[in-house]
Amino acid sequence: MPATILLVEDEPAIQELIAANLLRAGHQVVRAGDAETAQRIVRDALPDLVLLDWMLPGMSGIDFARRLRADERTRGIPLIMLTARGEEQDKVLGLEVGADDYVTKPFSPRELMARIKAVLRRRAPESTEDPVDLGGLRLDPATHRLTAGSTPVSLGPTEFRLLHFLMTHPERVHSRAQLLDQVWGDHVFVEERTVDVHIRRLRCALEPTHHDGLVQTVRGSGYRFSTQTESQPAVR
Ligand code: CA
Repeated sequence: MPATILLVEDEPAIQELIAANLLRAGHQVVRAGDAETAQRIVRDALPDLVLLDWMLPGMSGIDFARRLRADERTRGIPLIMLTARGEEQDKVLGLEVGADDYVTKPFSPRELMARIKAVLRRRAPESTEDPVDLGGLRLDPATHRLTAGSTPVSLGPTEFRLLHFLMTHPERVHSRAQLLDQVWGDHVFVEERTVDVHIRRLRCALEPTHHDGLVQTVRGSGYRFSTQTESQPAVR
């Protein structure tokens, strides 16, 4: 899945340059010229990463970063601060408000793209195009292919995204609400039982090669991808 990146930058030329590079790297870009606009955008839909300029008209980048980190819904969004100020103290402040990285202007677009990739890989591996190998499955987001051993497995787009998320966050239990947020998108109003329907389809697709047991039901909690044998039979 390409990452959706919210770019908050008030200088048009810099905004344009960064946006062009993000698009070329295969990302989707949502732009804001100030923190107030960015706040409205985030309220509508969570981006995969925020690139945030420090010096903005109105609310400063640091204040916006603080707000993102203070709200449970937005706390986990990966955040990179952009700044013209290179002082050590600013860097400390940027990291203190919970930025994942900090890039000083002027920077090369190439360096910025590398930093974004590193942060996404660490914080949101499901939004990178890196292939995932786990439990005998190989999922390649770039080509949208799944193979079980050497057998190609055909999956619908939702099942593919669901499996991608589960495989990049293995051995952890995800509630239906969390899966809806992560796979269908925040603020998408679909019923939780929709998740069950797609889990069932996913297992059906994995059944012929006996990989369906990797997608496990945790009774009363949700689902997990695990290479460990289930302690109790899956509820289907
Ligand atoms: Ca600025």
